[in-house]
Amino acid sequence: MPEGKIVKALSGFYYVLNKNQVIQCRGRGVFRKNKITPLVGDSVVYQADNEREGYIMEVKNRKNELIRPPIANVDQAILIFSAKEPEFSSVLLDRFLVIIESNDIMPIICLTKMDLLSEDEKSDLMKYVNDYQKIGYQILLSSSKTQEGINDLLPLLKGKISVLSGQSGVGKSSLLNAINPELSLKTSHISSHLGRGKHTTRHVELIDIKDGLVADTPGFSSLDFDELEAEFLSNCFPEMSLRSKECKFRGCLHLNEPKCAIKSAVENKEIPDYRYMHYVQFLQEIKDRKPRY
Ligand code: GDP
Ligand code: ZN
Repeated sequence: MPEGKIVKALSGFYYVLNKNQVIQCRGRGVFRKNKITPLVGDSVVYQADNEREGYIMEVKNRKNELIRPPIANVDQAILIFSAKEPEFSSVLLDRFLVIIESNDIMPIICLTKMDLLSEDEKSDLMKYVNDYQKIGYQILLSSSKTQEGINDLLPLLKGKISVLSGQSGVGKSSLLNAINPELSLKTSHISSHLGRGKHTTRHVELIDIKDGLVADTPGFSSLDFDELEAEFLSNCFPEMSLRSKECKFRGCLHLNEPKCAIKSAVENKEIPDYRYMHYVQFLQEIKDRKPRY
């Protein structure tokens, strides 16, 4: 039986991509009994009734599963931030990074609109770029206008399922169109084929771009830390996670505890001040969170 990937789920139908064909499938009744809900991103075995319709027979084991957006087997998250318009915000970037790290997904940072920066602004931004690179993050500088960085992004998307995250206006659509100029054409083609009207509700969809699948969603819709425990937060800062074993106390929250390896690394400038400040800020948010029952 043929296999494919679910690229869209809507009104009880699953749209399964196999090579260049999209087959509209229903789930088999047995899924409901076994409490399996197929997700966008799932690899599935399906039975084709004809060229366009079929039934999903089996959902392959998932590598991971995001809840918001609901998508399975995510390989990486591309965090899109503009260098300017809107201004780059390291606190917002850190917030995204924590959410992604806590989901155990590989982040790649992509800064857009580099063409808008003056030399001075660029050298200010490069301080951040160096800091994040030193932590171990991959960070790309790009411009859809000058095509800077576009060729570096392409190979990173190949053969993978990527979630593109970033506020609206940072240049996500422009970036995708720069990657693949046929895309707007192609996506609208797929959309009409799948019957996407003007009034459909928001849903997750994977777009096929040059051998890679990219989630067409604003990405992580919630940037609250509702799922995160205070003790776990420093694990989402790789440069802290690495050093926390050297703290004197187990379960050290790196605030006022004596002999804290994190605080000494901040004092020695091995960890940037602003990263530590964001850690403290996020920790407070987690502590202030209303208890759930
Ligand atoms: P999205 O909401 O994230 O999809 O952002 P868009 O792709 O719609 O871009 C938002 C605005 O930023 C538009 O006016 C784009 O023309 C502009 N923009 C996007 N990328 C670039 C870029 O690389 N350079 C410049 N100068 N403007 C850009
Ligand atoms: Zn500590």
